[in-house]
Amino acid sequence: MTAQIIDGKAFAARVREKVAGHVARLKEEHGIVPGLAVVLVGEDPASQVYVRSKGKQTVEVGMNSYEHKLDADAAQEDLLGLIEQLNNDPAVHGILVQLPLPGHLDEDLVINAIDPAKDVDGFHISNVGLLGTGQKSMVPCTPLGCLMMLRDHLGSLSGLNAVVIGRSNIVGKPMAQLLLGDSCTVTIAHSRTRDIQEVTGRADIVIAAVGRPEMVTGAWIKPGATVIDVGINRIDAPEKGEGKTRLVGDCDYESCAEVAGAITPVPGGVGPMTIACLLANTVTACCRANGLSEPE
Ligand code: NDP
Repeated sequence: MTAQIIDGKAFAARVREKVAGHVARLKEEHGIVPGLAVVLVGEDPASQVYVRSKGKQTVEVGMNSYEHKLDADAAQEDLLGLIEQLNNDPAVHGILVQLPLPGHLDEDLVINAIDPAKDVDGFHISNVGLLGTGQKSMVPCTPLGCLMMLRDHLGSLSGLNAVVIGRSNIVGKPMAQLLLGDSCTVTIAHSRTRDIQEVTGRADIVIAAVGRPEMVTGAWIKPGATVIDVGINRIDAPEKGEGKTRLVGDCDYESCAEVAGAITPVPGGVGPMTIACLLANTVTACCRANGLSEPE
């Protein structure tokens, strides 16, 4: 069997197109331009790339992008002061603090200082609670993107066995909540899980969010299962030349694709969907703030 490739890049382009349509209507009919503020503390190169890409795509769909850069040694009070200012700014509908933060800053405190209505990353404790109790919330972008691809590919997820590998607050746990919300039978695997291959081998859906390059191989996958690879890992690629690197997922693409029914590639799978969902969440936040009907 050779798996069907779930093209996250093309899917994300369609999501962005829909977002752009909504933004245009908000402008025309209500004179409102959604605004997304992104806060970056420090000089982490990967974070800088993500922030630049988020800003560029925000502007491309017609929204306002506000970038705030603080020095790596910024004081917690300064960051909290900036968040308060953004919370009170009516032109800002979404606030994203790029993670990870430098070690001297308290990530939980900072995230929970964001107005939950503007928390487009969905990490505020109120949004986590709302999602966990099945109420309207801001849904974390990466798991939301995964869910959209699964629904698009499989239709109803009801009754399917889903295994999420990874239990982080930003991917694994919200992913599991979303799958539960779609009536999957959900198992969360992690570093202490015994006989993990046997666990994943029973799954109709495997979501890998581990951060270990190519850990999940075809031997872990039930024939025909749908595999969503969240991992983004940079590894050495001597075959491309000295000092060169390449991106791989948490799944060994070749062997998984031989067994799975469908799989997301890395790059070009979950990654592009994450930013597209961030833009969609910003429009949703803007509509809610203005008492307007939300995009589906
Ligand atoms: P974390 O490091 O926060 O969590 C990793 C999880 O994997 C932990 O729960 C850990 O278990 C589990 N784990 C580690 N080793 C094993 C193992 N050998 N067997 C089973 N489980 C294991 O990572 P994130 O959730 O933040 O990210 C996961 C991956 O997704 C990374 O590659 C990251 O780069 C990528 N990512 C991609 C995004 C995108 O847009 N595509 C967005 C966010 C992340 P335990 O809890 O027991 O330690």
